[in-house]
Amino acid sequence: MDSKLLTYSRYAMLPGLGIAFAAINMATRGSDLSTSFPYFRTFILFFVLITLERIWSYRHAKSQRHMIWRDLTSTAVQTFVAAGIMGAIVLPILHYLPETFLGRRFLFGLSDQLGPLWVQVGAVFLLSSFWQYWVHRFEHTNDFLWKLHGYHHSVTHIQISNVLVSNPLDWALRNALGGLVMGIVGFNPYAIVLGGAIALSYGDLSHCGADVKGGWLNYIYNGPEVHRWHHSTEFPDDPKFRYGCNFGVSVTFWDILFGTFYLPKDEKGNVLAPKALGHPEGYPDEPNYLKILFATRCFPSLERFFDSKAKNNDDPVTIAAE
Ligand SMILES: [Zn+2]
Ligand SMILES: [Zn+2]
Repeated sequence: MDSKLLTYSRYAMLPGLGIAFAAINMATRGSDLSTSFPYFRTFILFFVLITLERIWSYRHAKSQRHMIWRDLTSTAVQTFVAAGIMGAIVLPILHYLPETFLGRRFLFGLSDQLGPLWVQVGAVFLLSSFWQYWVHRFEHTNDFLWKLHGYHHSVTHIQISNVLVSNPLDWALRNALGGLVMGIVGFNPYAIVLGGAIALSYGDLSHCGADVKGGWLNYIYNGPEVHRWHHSTEFPDDPKFRYGCNFGVSVTFWDILFGTFYLPKDEKGNVLAPKALGHPEGYPDEPNYLKILFATRCFPSLERFFDSKAKNNDDPVTIAAE
């Protein structure tokens, strides 16, 4: 009975979390808390997922304790700095462009002509996930972008603390630029923020490090079982997976539609896990957030500068040890 309950709980967790977070979002929209401290949802998400990761621990988990400062810095920069910059630049553009630029009036129409708000939220969710899929896929095929995006692939275990471990530009290309395009098309700014937020929060669940199961939801949402294959050190042995598989950030149906979905199962129907997670070309996980921020893998001279600085810092220790 106990083990059955445990199995059911593994299946119930993801949909439960999805519904709970959607309810929290709706209940706190426009509340005092969300205006004075807009980041509280991120805190709740991290707190809940870290707790779940402790209780339903994943059997192949690799300790990430030595990456704790990198994870914290990356999360803080993405949440407070990058999101703040995005808000300061993108939101005024979303309001300004449609009124004045040739975009809306020239191409489409006023945002209320694009349908009621809930229809626009749904459309934005679909379009954002479509954008995320194609930009992410392009990031795997383009040399420069693959080096930039590769930092996210160097992690050796996926858990909520490393969902935001990315170069900010890599993250923004995938997750934010689409919103700007939709603003030019003429979508209501609230629909863009809301639809985009739904796409992003489902994407966050893909880095849930707990041993949760997606069941049939794996064919709609990008759960951890699906996303682990995206982080596998070895790509599936098929030319169509030459650049990887499961590129969807929040959903999987674009992968299914465009032939990049991969989720192998054993004869009992249990989802198989990849042998190891990490960069397919063997780049080790990067503990120095500054290197990720300045994208030193894309610029060899910067990489040498960082390495020579690190060497200088190490020297006294080496001497002392000798
Ligand atoms: Zn990727
Ligand atoms: Zn990931």
